[in-house]
Amino acid sequence: MIAPGQSLGLLGGGQLGRMFVMAAQSMGYRVTVLDPGADSPAGTVADSHLRGDYLDDARLRELADTCAGATTEFENVPADSLRFLARHCVVSPAAESVAVAQDRIAEKSFLRDNGFPVAPFRVVRSLADLDGPEGGALVPGILKVSRFGYDGKGQARVRSLDEARAAWTSLGGEPCVLERWLPLARELSVVVARGFDGEVRTFPVAENHHQHGILDVSIVPARVPDALAAQARANAVALAEKLDYRGVLCVEFFVLDDRRLLVNEIAPRPHNSGHYTIDACVTSQFEQQVRVLAGVPLGDTALHSPAVMVNILGEAWMHAGGEPDWSAVFAHPRAKLHLYGKREARAGRKMGHYTVLADTLDEALAQALQIRERLRPLAQPAQSIPPEALA
Ligand code: ATP
Ligand code: MG
Repeated sequence: MIAPGQSLGLLGGGQLGRMFVMAAQSMGYRVTVLDPGADSPAGTVADSHLRGDYLDDARLRELADTCAGATTEFENVPADSLRFLARHCVVSPAAESVAVAQDRIAEKSFLRDNGFPVAPFRVVRSLADLDGPEGGALVPGILKVSRFGYDGKGQARVRSLDEARAAWTSLGGEPCVLERWLPLARELSVVVARGFDGEVRTFPVAENHHQHGILDVSIVPARVPDALAAQARANAVALAEKLDYRGVLCVEFFVLDDRRLLVNEIAPRPHNSGHYTIDACVTSQFEQQVRVLAGVPLGDTALHSPAVMVNILGEAWMHAGGEPDWSAVFAHPRAKLHLYGKREARAGRKMGHYTVLADTLDEALAQALQIRERLRPLAQPAQSIPPEALA
């Protein structure tokens, strides 16, 4: 067990890291962040900030020498860096697990080979991979680069194989997967934590709504039949066990029109759709990440009250012509504002989020959308979120 007072190392300086640092510090740990940025969201709140590349030997050595354990907030952290650290201190998650999640080809192949249902896909390493009758069954589809895609970046929707060929070239001719475009009834996610002793706990299922490929709203508990929510949680546990995963993992799911549940992708870290846990659960996903790394028992994941989380993107600053008027959030006594301390607001950049708690989910959703309307009235209207539960 790593006791409070000791130091934990974190690879990555983004908002997920910032919330990890805050959770760890409130439990009495010291945190050292390694990332290349000058004033990153996590680096500015950490006890110490090592500025450098994730592959910088000297920096990694310093982290290993000063920390009892290390984790990551960033799935593209080189697996070799985690391997290096694992020779000197406790590391969660393992390099091998991160390697699967950071490469879509490895990830989808792992899921399919282990019996987890996924969207029909094929690996595209050259234009020839788009020939043949199998390709025709995957359009209309979506072409996704295998590595370094996020928030819908590195993806292109294609209606035909000709469009797929053009898209593959304009995505840089990199290894990709072509996935069939599916009619989605809902999107769900489950954050699951698994300890070094194999203890495993899932958080309540989130129902996620995206805009322009970026998560917009998470509704918890997800408005789906109980059996479907239970199936999602069971799948997340099975996946964590199959990966022999030690840490916090998020599993994103698609629910098809016929109510079949598919795994979309996994993230080897806390997830944006799990931010609601900070305000709405006994234990947050970030505290859970600290608990796994420290080797202490997992915390209770029970939900205190229904919750709706809304992302705040750079557009809110553009709409306000400067700092947004936060009274839109503060006016609600059960709305909780979280800002990530990013200096520059850019379109599509995640700057913060808020979570609204209420006695009923309908009330939480209505208030959350009202606030959203005040922060960015130009956004697509709230109707894009189906008002009722999935039967
Ligand atoms: P993030 O890292 O933000 O989760 P990402 O860039 O890795 O996203 P995906 O999760 O693969 O990308 O896709 C983003 C969104 O695009 C999905 O949440 C879903 O709304 C839509 N989408 C992706 N693939 C499909 C598909 N095969 N059929 C229908 N919709 C899809
Ligand atoms: Mg996704």
